[in-house]
Amino acid sequence: MFIMNQEYRVLLYYKYVVIENPEELAKEHLQFCTDLGLKGRIIIAAEGINGTVSGTIEQTDSYMKYMEEHPLFAGTIFKIDDASEHAFKKMRVRFRPELVTLRLEDDVNPNRQTGKHLKPKEFFEEMQREDTVVIDARNDYEFDLGHFRGAVRPDITNFRDLPDWIRENKKTFEGKKILTYCTGGIRCEKFSGWLLKEGFEDVSQLDGGIVTYGKDPEVQGDLWDGQLYVFDERISVPVNRKENVIVGRDYFSGEPCERYVNCANPECNKKILCSEDNENKYLRSCSHECRVHPRNRYISEHGLSEEEVNKRLMAIGKDVTI
Ligand SMILES: [Zn+2]
Repeated sequence: MFIMNQEYRVLLYYKYVVIENPEELAKEHLQFCTDLGLKGRIIIAAEGINGTVSGTIEQTDSYMKYMEEHPLFAGTIFKIDDASEHAFKKMRVRFRPELVTLRLEDDVNPNRQTGKHLKPKEFFEEMQREDTVVIDARNDYEFDLGHFRGAVRPDITNFRDLPDWIRENKKTFEGKKILTYCTGGIRCEKFSGWLLKEGFEDVSQLDGGIVTYGKDPEVQGDLWDGQLYVFDERISVPVNRKENVIVGRDYFSGEPCERYVNCANPECNKKILCSEDNENKYLRSCSHECRVHPRNRYISEHGLSEEEVNKRLMAIGKDVTI
């Protein structure tokens, strides 16, 4: 049997807490994490902290101990994944105006107003009720790789567009019991609070997000289809430990596919699911315009001659001279 070397860990965490001097704290925190040897991405705002970091077992243990002893961050819940290596190339700690970008005119403080927190088992039971509607609070490309069976897919590429999308589709949700979920729970803290503020009365959220749901020993990720999109070098991780269903579809062929690439046009950069064969066939580009873009990364990475590019374009029914 092949045993993966699992001497690393990936920590995912957040805490909404008032921070008086977020810019200064971000600098201090970066120094601390760098000295410790961690890699990852952390956001510090006046409303709290949100991070994903990777490191050895020893480094991540030291970090969690430091956080527990920190006057502001004590009580932070860490979701821990085993890993065989770092999940990031660099260590970044950034000050931002918000932990998750919603840009609401009238901001929500999740410590004052948020949806009811449901444990994985409660969420599992509630989502199967007839009067329930499950809203995926993530972006379209995250949904397309994996989601809860029967969940609603908001047609958005950025979280900040979610409130407008809900308002446009209000009729679908009125009078229903609403359940929301996201990767680790942070987006739903705000989004479910916003739903309450918007007048929806029965709003619940998956406590600890999909990551916690997948690790729960009882539900074991049941009723989740596909993979979970994650914002580090792993790109995707499994959730459902009972059943494996592929929901991702190749952008070009529609075949089952769970492999994400970014469109090679640097000005587009759209995430597309595609096989290696189709990546080569379509020059890793989402459209003809992206394929013939003067700074196409696929063409430069592979050092393709004009003749070769033209040959491939002809093969898919397009001529560069058109
Ligand atoms: Zn494109």
